[in-house]
Amino acid sequence: MSQFNAHFRNINGDDTYPLTDVIYRSKVDGSLLEVEHDRAALASRSPEEWKKLFAERRMSFKPEDMSGIWSKREMVLPDIPVEDIVTMREGWSPLFDAAPLAKELGIGSLKVKLCGNSHTGSFKDLGMTVLVSQVNHIIKKGIHPIDAVACASTGDTSAALSAYCAKAGIPSIVFLPAGKTSTAQLIQPISNGSIVLALDTDFDGCMKIVQEVTKDNRIYLANSMNSLRVEGQKTISPEICQELGWTVPDTVIIPGGNLGNVSALAKGFEDCKAMGLIDRIPRIIVAQAENANPFYQAYERGFDKLVPVQAKKTLASAIQIGNPVSYPKAVRAIQKTNGMVVSVSEEELANAAHRGDRIGLYCCPHTGVALGALEKLVAAGKITKDENVVVISTAHGLKFTEFKVGYHEQKLENIASKYANPVFKAPAEIGAVMDILTKEMAARRR
Ligand SMILES: *Cc1c(COP(=O)(O)O)cnc(C)c1O
Repeated sequence: MSQFNAHFRNINGDDTYPLTDVIYRSKVDGSLLEVEHDRAALASRSPEEWKKLFAERRMSFKPEDMSGIWSKREMVLPDIPVEDIVTMREGWSPLFDAAPLAKELGIGSLKVKLCGNSHTGSFKDLGMTVLVSQVNHIIKKGIHPIDAVACASTGDTSAALSAYCAKAGIPSIVFLPAGKTSTAQLIQPISNGSIVLALDTDFDGCMKIVQEVTKDNRIYLANSMNSLRVEGQKTISPEICQELGWTVPDTVIIPGGNLGNVSALAKGFEDCKAMGLIDRIPRIIVAQAENANPFYQAYERGFDKLVPVQAKKTLASAIQIGNPVSYPKAVRAIQKTNGMVVSVSEEELANAAHRGDRIGLYCCPHTGVALGALEKLVAAGKITKDENVVVISTAHGLKFTEFKVGYHEQKLENIASKYANPVFKAPAEIGAVMDILTKEMAARRR
């Protein structure tokens, strides 16, 4: 047993449960749970000691130290034996310096945390390593019988779940909305041997089914309603601060769908503050696609309540969600950090993504939503010229080739591709080639 410990707690009450229980909501009132750490124990080590330990682990070659998540294990899952951890060296993703874009926009600085530079190409790996490790622990130590792990997914959760389960030798089940994921997303769980069901519904419909299926406790639920995932995802925040020399950006912008990740981001900063690692918490801004923006609509009404919507088709398919499960946690994240919610059109997200690509990024549409929100906030004077901003990039652009090809071929419906870069078709003759090069190089001369 480590000196640190944690348990599930009802976010609206005092009921608590061991982290080894198969439980996703409060038995008292059905509220969401969160992992509550013994903050007094964590604070018994000085901030300097923590910083030294985290710095040392950056130079270690132990698998549990090389993972961004498990290098912070005392604040993630303090009681798991190291041998039960299922890791693929997730986390410690690059903090891309988008200086040219910051300059164009006229803000202090802009960094993009590339959470999609990970085994399955999205930030979902960060939470899934924690969830699957805990399931592995429960099975190996004979705490409860678990036959399989299941999730509903807009694509990325299923890819992460199936990869981590395959590595651990645990069966997995994924429910996807038929025809609403990219080819790259669909093929991942197929390749990793999951039981893959494409249902004739949307994500919210898949979510209902998986909740039915997991009423049987032998099938463990892997959606972000399961607060173990939040613990892994929250390490995005200490990673940003650690890389910035334990300083804090002014504003962090994150795309939101089911709203687990924004809840995680806020919790990460709060935990760091409680441990004395940082002295303030940044303003957190959630960016949503106009076609699926129930959180934005609630924000505009002063967060009176969540009114679920029928999510419409959006290029940002991973956030095409009309009834976000983590709504109450996300409201707190926005309120506590004095944050905002911004809504972005299809054209805005597509152009913002490809504007980012021009400085060396390779943005997925969700990252485009966050970058589009940044552009709008700067234009509206809500992000000012000295501000240091971090944008959370949630997936790798390579998972969304259809989006990127469609953009450059100018085939995306109702979208004027401002940054389209056409391919020049030419005969293999030097004269024709030089004509094109002369013209194009002149156009690009700085
Ligand atoms: C899951 C996902 C999101 C949304 O995260 P939530 O926790 O559901 O808000 C955003 N972008 C990508 C690429 C995702 O896979």
